[in-house]
Amino acid sequence: MDKVVVVGSSLAGVRACGGLRANGFEGRITLVGNEPHQPYDRPPLSKKVLAGEWEPERISLFRDGEIESLGLDLRLGQPAVALSLADRAVELASGETVDYEGLILATGAATRRLPQQLEDDSVFELRTLDDSLALRARLAPGSQRVTIIGAGFIGLEVAATARTLGNEVVVVEGLPAPLIRGLGAEMGRAVTTLHDDNGVAIRCGVSVGGISRDGAALTVHITDGHGAAESIVSDIVVVGIGVSPVTGWLVDSGLEVRDGIVCDATLNAGVVGVYAAGDIARWPNGQFDGEEMRVEHWTNASEQGMHAAKNLLAVASGSEPEPYSAVPFFWSEQYGARIQFIGRAAGDDDVRIVKGSVADRAFVALYGKHGRLRGALGLSMPKPLMQCRKLLLERLSFDDALAAVEAF
Ligand code: NAP
Repeated sequence: MDKVVVVGSSLAGVRACGGLRANGFEGRITLVGNEPHQPYDRPPLSKKVLAGEWEPERISLFRDGEIESLGLDLRLGQPAVALSLADRAVELASGETVDYEGLILATGAATRRLPQQLEDDSVFELRTLDDSLALRARLAPGSQRVTIIGAGFIGLEVAATARTLGNEVVVVEGLPAPLIRGLGAEMGRAVTTLHDDNGVAIRCGVSVGGISRDGAALTVHITDGHGAAESIVSDIVVVGIGVSPVTGWLVDSGLEVRDGIVCDATLNAGVVGVYAAGDIARWPNGQFDGEEMRVEHWTNASEQGMHAAKNLLAVASGSEPEPYSAVPFFWSEQYGARIQFIGRAAGDDDVRIVKGSVADRAFVALYGKHGRLRGALGLSMPKPLMQCRKLLLERLSFDDALAAVEAF
């Protein structure tokens, strides 16, 4: 194998390039990217960059000279628009085609939008560096009325940053609690006590009818949990209602697309020489009895990028590929507090606080289901939380995990 194309120039794609070279690949690597910028890291976009504490140079994913030392053929600002498995070629928006012998798909995810979302320069989404810089210019003076739609990680991190800069912030969420997807309802409510402490109202069970502009201000039209209509007058609106995997360009490719690219346990996308990594990869995770999952977090993108590269090279040289079996991990920072989660939460988990308390704004909680430990959440308790990782790797029963954590 002499030519590899990596599509997607964010974390998973960049790690795939590094993984190819680290595992001895000496052929051509073409890295195709949608955005014109040099690859950058996204977590600071809603925190340090948005707060104005870090400049964009600080979040580059490549060190100085690394692109040259890796010998990458970069095609930035040129989204891939089609894949031909028969010709082993990726078509770019410019009309150019790039042929490959090995292919790693890492096109990530794109923001979801409200139906008929108002186009207005005070209505923001936050996914890219440009989004972050545009929003930061508006938040920096403080004293703005900011309404955030969606109480997921984007919504709550932006809320914390905007509030810290001295803005008035309201968050509206459709579901009955914040962060339900990542943490479940009970712990979602527990970690967002931080927002109560800092004067940010999080209003759940609200349905958003739309956004309109009325003179100098925007209005967010909502129906509250009791069916009453209300208008929230705002200077700035941020829509953070989730993301969808970027697979539109692959619909006619013949690959199986089902809320992501369907992969086997080794991240192979069903065709020899084609792998997926990061937000778009849906794969059976051996660590959770082969449960199929798609994970939209940093650590997963980083690890899967390297893993896909390693497996692509292994198969090409006649070796066995290894399954990607992992305990997912993610973290968030809000008002200086660190929220960390290891494992996988489901809505009906049995959740127990085992260290600290919500009142102290510092705790560790374990998540169990069907008698098995499935996850652990820490709020400002990094050390005991990281010790829980071992319990998850050992696949302890919930009772054994509850007993083991006593010793931490
Ligand atoms: P998210 O975590 O999926 O949260 C979006 C929230 O908005 C969900 O609770 C969603 O409910 C709700 N929502 C959807 N439509 C709504 C509507 N019309 N009105 C009010 N609420 C609505 O997504 P996100 O916060 O936008 O983040 C985007 C991605 O970036 C995610 O993959 C996230 O994990 C990632 N991210 C991660 C971090 C981190 O790890 N620290 C930080 C930032 C971003 P439904 O589920 O019912 O749609």
